[in-house]
Amino acid sequence: MKIFQQMSSFGHEQVAFAQETASGYLGIIAIHSTALGPAVGGTRLLDYHDEAEALLDVLRLSRAMTYKSALAGVPFGGGKAVIIGDNRTSERERIFRAHGRFVETFGGRFITGEDVGTSTADLQYIHLETKHVAYGPSIRVGDSSPWTARGVFRGIQAAAKHRWGADDLSGKTIALQGCGQVGYRLAQELYQAGAKLIVTDTDPEKVQRVVTKCTAVAVDPASIYDAEADIFAPCALGSILNEQTIPRLRVEIVAGAANNQLLAEEHGVALAARGILYAPDYAINSGGVISGGVDLLGWEIEEGLRRVEAIYDTLLAVFARAQDSGIPPQQAADALAEERLLKSKAG
Ligand code: NAD
Repeated sequence: MKIFQQMSSFGHEQVAFAQETASGYLGIIAIHSTALGPAVGGTRLLDYHDEAEALLDVLRLSRAMTYKSALAGVPFGGGKAVIIGDNRTSERERIFRAHGRFVETFGGRFITGEDVGTSTADLQYIHLETKHVAYGPSIRVGDSSPWTARGVFRGIQAAAKHRWGADDLSGKTIALQGCGQVGYRLAQELYQAGAKLIVTDTDPEKVQRVVTKCTAVAVDPASIYDAEADIFAPCALGSILNEQTIPRLRVEIVAGAANNQLLAEEHGVALAARGILYAPDYAINSGGVISGGVDLLGWEIEEGLRRVEAIYDTLLAVFARAQDSGIPPQQAADALAEERLLKSKAG
């Protein structure tokens, strides 16, 4: 593994590794940038195939956090943590306390929270070892998924406005991948807006909940890419937009909550070449990081909610720039985020 080469290609400040043999804890914390503030990013617990996959994931996710906060106007830098391990572990307390001690070594340059595979109970264990975690009495929002879902809903409306000239989603069909914390709430927002839903999840109970509450049609996980719909909303895991899936899509817009949806930069180009409008993931899913402004910076709830609603305008600006410059929206979002970072460094 050429770690320094990978770090410089992503532009990282620091990557640190920690292990604890007794509990089997294996953790990586990546700090992409602290230019705008302390690096903020969740902790992901996943059974990665190998260390190289875990490292690539944490590098990509932490850079996206820098861009996400920069675009959302939240004074946070970008970081992320991954723990390599099986989510069914019975060693949860020992693993997350070991992780808390690792987070503490950063002395506040890195602040963590929930992510895929971790829950509030895990944050409680981390909190026993460090205060640099989104947990405790000062936390007013806590579960960020309703904020993320609302932001994604507003981003979908912006994509509809750019694509079809109106942001009304009534009668539109949305193929939703992942009916978890964000997907479920997004489904409810879309249903209330009059959209028709085609949904999938690898967990049948989660599918059933959306089918019942939102009169959705369920399809099996492998078929969601073939669903005939207006919009595809990926709300499960990343890298699902790739050479296998993009040719199968029968939608005009891809807009959802999942992080790192594009397997690689070139897949953003491939979507644009097929005439599919892509809402860049870190631009549309910043509701969670905005809730961090309330929990970690003391913003008023109303101020946070106002900024979540403004994801609509950010997305419209990204799409306009992409159109004017003849580039895919992902590149336009990167350019906007990098400009904000440069401005902050200059100022
Ligand atoms: P979650 O774990 O609650 O939900 C993910 C769902 O996807 C689960 O129900 C899981 O069963 C399902 N799933 C996994 N693999 C699948 C597959 N192959 N096909 C269909 N379904 C599959 O997570 P979440 O909090 O809802 O987050 C969803 C996505 O949004 C993640 O990528 C996360 O990183 C991203 N995100 C979440 C937040 C937040 O505030 N929770 C913020 C920003 C981004």
